Amino acid sequence: MIKLRGHHLICLHFFEGEGYSKKFISNLKGIIKNLENDTKTKIVDGADAVCAYCPHLKTNICIYKPGYEKEIEALDKMALKLLNLKKGDALLWRKIKSKISKILPKWQEFACFSCDWRKVCFTKL
Ligand code: SF4
Repeated sequence: MIKLRGHHLICLHFFEGEGYSKKFISNLKGIIKNLENDTKTKIVDGADAVCAYCPHLKTNICIYKPGYEKEIEALDKMALKLLNLKKGDALLWRKIKSKISKILPKWQEFACFSCDWRKVCFTKL
């Protein structure tokens, strides 16, 4: 079971091999490979399996930018609302993948246009 927070359930579909550090990227590649091989994901609040290898995680808080933890929490909340999922749910990656195209316009409006990674993702859209 791979623990993932709300916004990663959407953003990971747009991973293009880039990230914050070599360790972070290698962890992310492993996570995606396992998810695509039908290891279930379990939805969690806060730091997850992706954050675990992120240089911006300090004492379980995201410090990417000042006050960012609150922004991330809002992204997680909106992602779960759009995907109609909740903390504690466990499901296959392909089930989540099948919902992405439908929720993408609303997600882009809420999250993508102000995201620092938009140039990477938008090559896939
Ligand atoms: S930037 Fe923050 S939310 Fe994103 S992976 Fe790193 S710790 Fe997690």
